Amino acid sequence: MSTLPQLVLNTRKARSFSGHHPWVVSHSIIEPTIPLAPGQAVELVTPNGHWIGRGFYNPASAIRVRLYQWSENQSLNVDWCLQQLERAVALRRMWADIDCPLTAVRLINSEGDGLSGLIVDRFGDYIVIQVTALAIVPWLDAICDWLSKELRSKAIFVRTDARIARNEGMPDRDELVSGSAPDGPIELIENDVRLMIDLNQGQKTGYYLDQRANRLRAAKWIGPGRMLDVCCYLGGFSLAACRWGQPSQVTAVDSSQAALQQAAVNSGLNGIERIEFIQADCFDFLEQQSREVSEKFQTVVLDPPRLAGNRNQVPAALRAYHRLNLSAVKCLRPGGVLVTCSCSGRISRADFTGMLASVAKRSRRTIQILWTAGADFDHPVDASCPETEYLKCYFCRVE
Ligand code: SAH
Repeated sequence: MSTLPQLVLNTRKARSFSGHHPWVVSHSIIEPTIPLAPGQAVELVTPNGHWIGRGFYNPASAIRVRLYQWSENQSLNVDWCLQQLERAVALRRMWADIDCPLTAVRLINSEGDGLSGLIVDRFGDYIVIQVTALAIVPWLDAICDWLSKELRSKAIFVRTDARIARNEGMPDRDELVSGSAPDGPIELIENDVRLMIDLNQGQKTGYYLDQRANRLRAAKWIGPGRMLDVCCYLGGFSLAACRWGQPSQVTAVDSSQAALQQAAVNSGLNGIERIEFIQADCFDFLEQQSREVSEKFQTVVLDPPRLAGNRNQVPAALRAYHRLNLSAVKCLRPGGVLVTCSCSGRISRADFTGMLASVAKRSRRTIQILWTAGADFDHPVDASCPETEYLKCYFCRVE
């Protein structure tokens, strides 16, 4: 019999939690009468005492409880966490040679691997952990020990996003927790493309591994003609296109000068001379390009940063996606290819498709969706938590 404090769901919400969604937001529960400490393990029950799950309480967060277990005869402790890690790493090993020094792979994908709030990326011999929930913090030392033994890593970094840290009431961190940091960018190979990635200064964990398979698929659909890669970061789509596709020339745009500099280094490393890098805002650049009458592109890749962080931002984000995609379509020759992405978990596939339909209507162009994809194999999705299916990548032909 568990001795953990019980939290009671509020009556209206009781039914939705039989579905194993790991997030319990503040208005779904009756707040405890005796204050509970942040990070306290709790049992969640319905108003008539039916057991739902076990998780951690956080009074600072809009996600009041994160659920980790839906079976009563388990214990929510560090051993259980390490078992989840072991299972997640074994899953990756089934599909890829993750122990190769030049391989980059996501080892833990938060809710998708049953560990809400923990993201672990391996970049060759280095590991970058991103913590997005206070609940994970007490387990971090054990997680780092396990990872460094299991993967014989040279160093482990722990990072948080400043905004998420504030929302979770936890310290904002960006530190090396074991080993020694690389002197400069490290080399990785993705889709037979060489990439130098700066783990000390890169965005998020360092590189966007989720788009790996989409870069290759896009490349194979890129016929002769000019390509525009908007929000290119380190040049992932452009480099794969030059390696595997046939673009005659590529214009790659990003607002980050540091990313563009690294992208140019990566281009040189692969002996590619066809890419021109431009620092610009994606909205301004696309709108200006869409007014050019003669210089149309055969391919546009559009991979903007997350535009909707929460549910309230969805309408404005959809308008922003509409604006970007409308300009992108206007930049394309008839018969051109649009690879358009959204990494906002709050925007559903139906919303994204609807936005494209509206762009088609407005531009009087036919948008034929050839293929839709999500993140690559190492980013599993929790079927009960639709927000974890954040990445949408649509491959379209535009008449
Ligand atoms: N396509 C990339 C990943 C893109 S991530 C890849 O394959 O790896 C989003 C990128 O958008 C980041 O590089 C970020 O620097 C850039 N970005 C953010 N805001 C922007 C803006 N307003 N205009 C142009 N680029 C922007």
